[in-house]
Amino acid sequence: MTSTSSLSQVKLHGIAAAPGQVVAPAWRWAESRVHGSGTDLTGETGINRLQIAIRDVKAALATKATGLQARGAAAEAGILQAQALMLDDPALLDGASSLIRKGRPADAAVAETMAPFAEMLRASDDEVFKARAADLEDVVEQLRRALHGVSDMPPPPATPSIVVARDLAPSQTAGLDRTLVVGFATEQGTATAHTAILARALGLPAVVGIAGLVDAVADGQSVLLDGDRGTLVIDPSPGSVAHVAGPKPLVTDAAPAVTKDGRRIDVGCNAANLEDAQRAAAAGADGIGLLRSEFLFLGSDRLPTEEEQVAMLEQVMAAMAPRPVILRTLDVGADKPLPALPQPAEANPALGVRGLRLQLLRRPELLMDQLRAALRIAAGYPLRLMFPMVSTVDEVRQVKLLLEKARRELNASPRMEVGIMVEVPAAAVTADVLAKEVDFFSLGTNDLTQYLFAADRTNPDLASLADSLHPALLRVIDQVVRAAHSEGRWVGVCGEMASDLGAVPFLIGLGVDELSVHPPLVARIKASVRGLDAAECARVATAALQLDSGTAVRRLVDHSVSKT
Ligand code: PEP
Ligand code: MG
Repeated sequence: MTSTSSLSQVKLHGIAAAPGQVVAPAWRWAESRVHGSGTDLTGETGINRLQIAIRDVKAALATKATGLQARGAAAEAGILQAQALMLDDPALLDGASSLIRKGRPADAAVAETMAPFAEMLRASDDEVFKARAADLEDVVEQLRRALHGVSDMPPPPATPSIVVARDLAPSQTAGLDRTLVVGFATEQGTATAHTAILARALGLPAVVGIAGLVDAVADGQSVLLDGDRGTLVIDPSPGSVAHVAGPKPLVTDAAPAVTKDGRRIDVGCNAANLEDAQRAAAAGADGIGLLRSEFLFLGSDRLPTEEEQVAMLEQVMAAMAPRPVILRTLDVGADKPLPALPQPAEANPALGVRGLRLQLLRRPELLMDQLRAALRIAAGYPLRLMFPMVSTVDEVRQVKLLLEKARRELNASPRMEVGIMVEVPAAAVTADVLAKEVDFFSLGTNDLTQYLFAADRTNPDLASLADSLHPALLRVIDQVVRAAHSEGRWVGVCGEMASDLGAVPFLIGLGVDELSVHPPLVARIKASVRGLDAAECARVATAALQLDSGTAVRRLVDHSVSKT
């Protein structure tokens, strides 16, 4: 939608994805520079291209390693230097060249030459060698990208700018240079897509789902991005620029959130990194309700080792101590591809090998790393573990066996609560069975809504269909909470619905025990809980289950809960 609000300024409307207002020149994300060039990779040309790719990847690794060393990250720099040495191994160029001469394209020849080495390393009992397998596969992937002329990131803008793009992947968002990118706007995306969630985690104002954006904005044109209202003003008037609010200070509220009739609701935070955990602690959160471990991996082009995960977790736990933290195991795939873990293309990635499925089916050794890291931390801190994208009880039983294996390997037996995300309708429907297997549930309402309504969470055209106040979703939540409580299990909500002040009365009314929200919202959500009467919320929620639309539910809350 477009409107002209003064003679020259044009206002574009989208979806508010991450709060904050900012004025800066637009910087158009040059997709031509991000995509591949379709070079010929066969015959002598292929061998030449491979030699050039090896040289380029080595140079890129050396530059990155120097940058890391300058920031004091000597261990990380060492890993990149070791990768550069792998490129020097004559087995690589000789083996691949002979396959290319037999007619294989250079990218396939590299992958086939290196696969047996990676397998050999992976089969080793030594953790250090195992980690080398991932590094080697990463080198192969970097060569593939170089051979195709593909870069994940265009070079950054020269001055602080607002990125304007058709779409941004979460890894691209994580890789944005925060000193030069002060916000972003995209044509694609919704508020519950991972790019938006990451923008909030990074504190980067963002508006997504703006139709016609890229054609409407020129490079360097002044724009006012309003991540609170979901608008982008092109050539804003001096009057509107003057009203741009600065960053809001974080409000602290460390007192418990108790309803008027005495029900305690834990208000935790969603976090993606140490900085989020520090903000959660400063906001007075009761814990971390969702630590998205995948985001710890996103900025890097290789997977962290068990030791590195232990070190990262220890920092997060220390920032939150003595409060509990729920670590969610790796949830990649769908709209959250991980550069360090490239996967084959799928026809329907959101219904594909993502979350726990990926680790169980393809990379159990990665899961084992996470399980061991979690157990090691749980020996000293109140860490809870949670698994994403669970569909069946068999998956839960399988992962519990692996957890037992990790315990035996470590000779460790710390008490650690284990829970699952309820975000796949099959899990919600069988919550009574699953509740017998785990200590808690956390409702992933972003995915649960997507899968329940068969409405892609990244598609702006479907944003109104995936309505988290629709009675269809409320009925599912009701069923899950009842099933959990009858087994004595507690239920949290870590999807965006928990951060929605309009949804909180229903969640409390349906019996939810914990809400996990964005750090800046802790004080507001706690205040809202204190203003509610849980028994009255339950009456309203029960009535909402019988309504026929989200709009009708909203009307109900306007008339009843707000008056309690
Ligand atoms: C969810 O699906 O609601 C959730 C919290 O997980 P994510 O958004 O990371 O998929
Ligand atoms: Mg999810």
